Amino acid sequence: MTTTTPIATHYEQFLHLLTRETSDAPPGRDAPRARYGERVDTAGVPHAIVMNRDAWILNQIDLTLALGRLLGEDDVVVSAVPYELSFVGAEMDRVIELVGASVISVGTSRTICPMPRLLGLIEQYQVTALVCAPGFAAELASLARTRGQRPQDSTVRTVVCVGEPCSTERLDRVGAVWAATTATLYGTPTTPTAAVPCERGALHLCEQRLRAEVDGHPRGELFLDGSPTGELVELRSAGRGCDCGAASRVLVPLGSMSAALPGPDAPVSAVDVERIVFRHAGLTPHFACTVQDGAFHVVCAVAEAESPAGGALRRVIRGEIGDALGVAAEVTVVDAKDWSTATS
Ligand SMILES: [Zn+2]
Repeated sequence: MTTTTPIATHYEQFLHLLTRETSDAPPGRDAPRARYGERVDTAGVPHAIVMNRDAWILNQIDLTLALGRLLGEDDVVVSAVPYELSFVGAEMDRVIELVGASVISVGTSRTICPMPRLLGLIEQYQVTALVCAPGFAAELASLARTRGQRPQDSTVRTVVCVGEPCSTERLDRVGAVWAATTATLYGTPTTPTAAVPCERGALHLCEQRLRAEVDGHPRGELFLDGSPTGELVELRSAGRGCDCGAASRVLVPLGSMSAALPGPDAPVSAVDVERIVFRHAGLTPHFACTVQDGAFHVVCAVAEAESPAGGALRRVIRGEIGDALGVAAEVTVVDAKDWSTATS
């Protein structure tokens, strides 16, 4: 599975589209519409999103430039991100093709391509990169283990995490189980590419086309082009968030506002909880955290060989979360192989 299409041809087509649109109609309300998607609010109500062609292509170009540093023409990439009624799946397909790599789109429904089938595809086509949620990468690795495979010996050498916020601590754990280089991307349902990683791994805002503000310092709800996103983030000035030299600010995703709890100084998110949890070396990269009755309910997992931890570990982690973050937490520690039953 190698591609021989010159990447330049795709760029030329993109540039043609962009030039034509800017000459025919100014960007904004009257610009030609390219794509329909939906976002679901915290009450579960879907809302329509229509993206114009300029925005759609510019999102893809920013993502292509970022992924071009991580992937190349020899890569075979599995894209396990949402496709239906969202932008991210279609964008990912185009970007992987623009980079010159090959793509296997499996989505997230797990109906046509459930995880066991995906493991087969990885082996058959020597997949070198996964684009998926960090939880998906963790679950896939533990399924491989239960089938007697060793994910660290697979052909996968890059894992790009999207779709859920992930601390560097958990990301390192994902990288370790796959023996892979990791990176994260950040977007919202309305803006699929809002921040991209630099070579140091920090997420830098795409400030040349987005106006971003936060209603707190440095942590609060993210506003993009004046609209609230419902997303909790930290925005740090470039010099303070990363020393790579890029001029754009660094964005630290912290999940949705509704999944955060009020803390002593600022909202506390599941990502803060992750940083505490993953200080413990024996844990696998599985992690689930929800808010119920004013407390975080955390589920984490140990590998089978290290199971005796149980109740003691649970109490230690609960105490550490309370001490470090000033919020209440209930903690459950399960065996990694029981993960799906424990969290469904
Ligand atoms: Zn940087």
